[in-house]
Amino acid sequence: MGLRKILDFKVPREHYQADAIIIWCFDERFDEYRERKPLIRFLFSVLFWIGMKRFNPETSLLRAYIKQKRFHHPDVIKWAGGAKPLVFEGEGNRNAFRHKLETAIRLHGAPRIVLMLHADCGAFNFGDDPSEELENHLAGLCLAGDFLKREFPDKEIELLLADFNGLYALG
Ligand SMILES: [Zn+2]
Repeated sequence: MGLRKILDFKVPREHYQADAIIIWCFDERFDEYRERKPLIRFLFSVLFWIGMKRFNPETSLLRAYIKQKRFHHPDVIKWAGGAKPLVFEGEGNRNAFRHKLETAIRLHGAPRIVLMLHADCGAFNFGDDPSEELENHLAGLCLAGDFLKREFPDKEIELLLADFNGLYALG
């Protein structure tokens, strides 16, 4: 088997310190890859700039959040359900999760950990009951936050809930 280059692209070799480790669900609706047409993007930028914040020029909620926080080097870790393995999948998965966080912190020294859960997540099974889902997610984020504060007392912890109208911070 030979190797054949399929993309020419320059990746910076320098190492970096991460601004944050962000645990996000892989649901692409909350991190869209499509781009707006340049004119639409420009119009959205103008509206956003004059204060109409719902016209965010980004199509990706995650990217909009990263921009708002001015993170330059976020380490984003994606899997099903975002913060779910930390609170809803038993001790084995919680320990595996902690181990991955320890590795990420050792490699890039991020001073903060960001966890998200989101509405209508396929990793949970709430069907058409948004209030039950919201209650579950808020309780889950609180538990996850307590766990992280205990395990990583020197880190800033941010707990986020995403829905189809934006992003909300707990606390
Ligand atoms: Zn999800």
